[in-house]
Amino acid sequence: MTTTRSTTRVLRTRAELRAALADVPRPLGVVPTMGWLHDGHRSLMQRARADSATTIATIFVNPRQFNEAADYQRYPRNEARDLAICRDQAVDLVFAPEVEEVYPAGFDTVVSVGAVARPLEGAARPGHFDGVATVVAILFNLIAADRAYFGQKDAQQVMVIRQMARDLAIPTEVIACPTIREADGLALSSRNVHLSSAERQAAPVLRRALLAGRARWEAGERSGDVIRDAMSEVLASEPLATPAYVSVADGRTLAELDALVDGEPALLSLAVRFGATRLIDNEPIG
Ligand code: AMP
Repeated sequence: MTTTRSTTRVLRTRAELRAALADVPRPLGVVPTMGWLHDGHRSLMQRARADSATTIATIFVNPRQFNEAADYQRYPRNEARDLAICRDQAVDLVFAPEVEEVYPAGFDTVVSVGAVARPLEGAARPGHFDGVATVVAILFNLIAADRAYFGQKDAQQVMVIRQMARDLAIPTEVIACPTIREADGLALSSRNVHLSSAERQAAPVLRRALLAGRARWEAGERSGDVIRDAMSEVLASEPLATPAYVSVADGRTLAELDALVDGEPALLSLAVRFGATRLIDNEPIG
């Protein structure tokens, strides 16, 4: 029996990517990321590896999805460390292009998803989902993977990308994977690195608020307002937390709900600022 030691190839250009993908074994699974990789990304890579004959990760901090230039500038980056993680995870290929390779001179198209992209993150971060949908459409077209893996942590993002892929007839199947958390419940995020130690200690309040909302639902509460208030009350107990939104929404449309209906999915979700750092989390119910 022969074993082949897997190696990870790093691709910088569209031409290198096209050549590398020409004859890879299928199915091909892709994990799109913005780098500063953590256990959440690792879990996506593991799922992709389990499903696929070939796994590719992308590392690209997409300027078009940042609605604040300062947020883009300070987004954490460490490519050497990220590539070491991709090697550890036995990812076969990494596409890590420069901005000009993704958006060549003269690029002038925006992919703008409709209703599901408007509330929550769409309302709080104008242009964000246009940037996400545009870059993911480009990556899906360049890579033509059989499946793409995204985190449930960014629940609305998954819904926006599903809608985009369906509407643009892109055959890549979009798979949502569970949120990976620290032991204290904080969802892993590249942005956690910006938290001061006091903010880091305060940050699990997002999870506690979501679980308080879920507990109300499990106790039989069906009023959207009562569940929103239960979450807001938990957030109000943490002085370092400044809520941006507290949402109880339809799990398919993300429209805010007056009343939850048994058997129909709902999504509890939050965005909360700690100083300059904005964190999001969610809890699907029903
Ligand atoms: P990002 O690099 O932040 O753009 O994230 C790349 C992918 O990893 C997205 O699909 C995210 O939803 C996913 N992701 C980020 N954090 C987590 C987490 N804590 N658990 C699972 N997936 C995550």
